[in-house]
Amino acid sequence: MRRRPFLDRLKSLFRVTFMELLENLHLDWLGNYSDIPLEAFFKQDMLRLGIAFDVSALANPDSYKTKDYFIFSFDRIPLHEMTGQENWKAPEEIRFADGNYHLRSTVVSVRINPESPYKIVLRDGTLKIYFGADELAEVVYPVIPDYYKKKYKAAKPPGEIAPVIEWGYLIYLTVFRNCQYFGKEEECAFCDINHNWRQQKKSGRPYTGVKSVEDILEILQGIDLYDTVAGAYTLTGGSVVTQLNGKNEIDFYGEYASIINQKFPGRWISKVVTQAYEKEDVVKLKDAGIEIYHPNYEIWDKNLFEKYCPGKARYIGRDNWNRRIIESARVFGEKNVIPNFVAGVELAAPHGFLTIDAAIESTLEGVDYFMSHGISPRFTTWCPEPYTTLGQNLPAPLEYYMKLLRGYKAIWKKYNLPVPPGYGPAGAGKAVFSVSAFMDVLEGSEKN
Ligand code: SF4
Repeated sequence: MRRRPFLDRLKSLFRVTFMELLENLHLDWLGNYSDIPLEAFFKQDMLRLGIAFDVSALANPDSYKTKDYFIFSFDRIPLHEMTGQENWKAPEEIRFADGNYHLRSTVVSVRINPESPYKIVLRDGTLKIYFGADELAEVVYPVIPDYYKKKYKAAKPPGEIAPVIEWGYLIYLTVFRNCQYFGKEEECAFCDINHNWRQQKKSGRPYTGVKSVEDILEILQGIDLYDTVAGAYTLTGGSVVTQLNGKNEIDFYGEYASIINQKFPGRWISKVVTQAYEKEDVVKLKDAGIEIYHPNYEIWDKNLFEKYCPGKARYIGRDNWNRRIIESARVFGEKNVIPNFVAGVELAAPHGFLTIDAAIESTLEGVDYFMSHGISPRFTTWCPEPYTTLGQNLPAPLEYYMKLLRGYKAIWKKYNLPVPPGYGPAGAGKAVFSVSAFMDVLEGSEKN
């Protein structure tokens, strides 16, 4: 059935509580963003504000996939303040749909925030998400993958060694759970990888500093046998500035890639996150079987890159970083170089932009720069995690994200670029990428 145009849908909603909702949300400007799917609007708002859970919504945590804390905390409060044990009971993601606003099915990563206006409650046997008193949509939680239920020799559970996110699409291999950029002078100011490590260990979660290749291969074998959903894996973790297990960063991550790709050739799209390296180094990753390279540049503005990514700025430098991104396209092909930026952090005090428009202008300049070279960056939604240097900031305004989604898509269309590979399907109602709505607003398939 063809979906009604947005404005028709909007008019039909006037009869219910939509205008009330807009007023509550302070979003009377939504009419200016009718090109953005309503689903993307709610998704971005849930990502920036987090989600609260009623006790009724977390009563049966053995029946769904809970948060595996796959790399960062992505929560708005520390674990020790989670009086409802949300860190053990909250789902990894939610999928909302239908409800008063006839929303298409939309996957959102869970960022725990008991103070969020978005709250999930079990009512009449159905999970529902509310904004204040307004019922927005019905909710489902992700199923526990079959391979999680099998027995392995590895001492730690599959959800620690090789969890899946993005509704089962992406196997997330954080093989190094710390970063050698350490302390305020070096760590990225928005990143809680080292803080998260400490709080998870303290809470009793079986976190692994450096994962063994044998454990990973064993769980991947389980995925190979019992799973039909996962389409990609990402090798990732903190930066290696000196050496780790006697190897530099390229050799450290490259060894995992090489062994995995020899054992399971072509089984999943292979992706890696490392710092930006010279061509002769990234060739080694390509030779190890990596298809997609994520040298994340985090923030486009020069001053903010230096202030908020002090380790990266000092050890590699912004100019080198961005040059290496462009040059690595000669190794992987343009569409297979996908650097991430942390959307919204450029508005963080004390050094950030003072207006949304200034932040958008800067960030879209960066998007245009990379896309003009055939490279589509992607973005995650900044979460002011409490232990980070920038953790006392409020999240970036929703208006920023609406302008970003619109600008990003316009530039992507201007350069006639393909849907970035390795993220599953694109489009509202189809996308599974869960930490920003960038895939929800694109159209087409990664084959185009
Ligand atoms: S390089 Fe920055 S963003 Fe990456 S893990 Fe280290 S501190 Fe975090």
